[in-house]
Amino acid sequence: MKAEIISVGTELLLGHTINTDAAHVARALSSLGIDLHHACVVGDNAARLEECLRAALQRSDLIITTGGLGPTNDDLTKETVARVLGLPLEEDADSLRRLREYFGDRPVGENQYKQAWLPRGSHAFANSVGTAPGCAAPAEGGKLVILLPGPPSELLPMLHDEVVPWLARKTGACIHSSMVRTFALGEGDAELRLRDMTGAANPTVATYATDGEMFVRITAKAATAEEAARLVAPVRDAVCRRLGEHVYGVDVENLESVVVPLLLQRGETLTTAESCTGGLLAKRITDVAGASSVF
Ligand code: ATP
Repeated sequence: MKAEIISVGTELLLGHTINTDAAHVARALSSLGIDLHHACVVGDNAARLEECLRAALQRSDLIITTGGLGPTNDDLTKETVARVLGLPLEEDADSLRRLREYFGDRPVGENQYKQAWLPRGSHAFANSVGTAPGCAAPAEGGKLVILLPGPPSELLPMLHDEVVPWLARKTGACIHSSMVRTFALGEGDAELRLRDMTGAANPTVATYATDGEMFVRITAKAATAEEAARLVAPVRDAVCRRLGEHVYGVDVENLESVVVPLLLQRGETLTTAESCTGGLLAKRITDVAGASSVF
């Protein structure tokens, strides 16, 4: 399978933003054994994006775009892809439900709704952090165009949690991944400590920062799930050793889901006196089942 990346965003052409998304997508493709033959950057301009897409569809089987999926007028990737593929945009019920859940009691602006519209026949990828879902749209000849959001904090979880397993199923490979979660460690510091590991192809080691925490995901591909898990284990252990006391858990949900059971186990209690956070810390702790015994 020949793949190609199209990074969409004028900020990338101006040099205001470093194109880290392309590097993450490239590494994910390599972990899947998919050959990346081209990568290009194009501004937020429908005509030039259309030109790139048409050229890409001529020579590649899988095209991955990043950026331009948001609610504003310069976010034109999805509309342009749909036009080039000759697919109408249709409301995707699951994406609409997730969009409504994201906004909760807050009103959903009219321009937000367009994010739940996907090219007909697409497979949707949930956005666990933001509002714009990604999707894989079918193209002629069994080709695929995968659309991903631009912000790395949205692209990375979608890429690793949704797109890679989905592509692995398509290519007949088994994927296993493990997530090492750390606190009080900068992404730059983590990258320095893991520098010789982040270039490897199988397993891949990818760092990403979100919400004040830093995660390291180790992903392996193999013929069976057991073999993939066996490849991940020693690398995961090595990552934990190198990041030392910053690691608070492996394959755990979040920091509070580790803190509350630890307090229970040690027979300790916690009190908060918060300023400026509106009780955020207390909320995170009390969201964990059993927290009332320790909080
Ligand atoms: P949004 O919902 O935020 O509009 P989007 O999918 O429309 O998301 P863009 O508007 O294209 O994405 O980009 C939003 C931000 O994401 C950019 O300002 C930039 O900070 C970051 N970003 C976009 N593309 C990339 C990239 N290729 N590499 C790294 N960061 C990127």
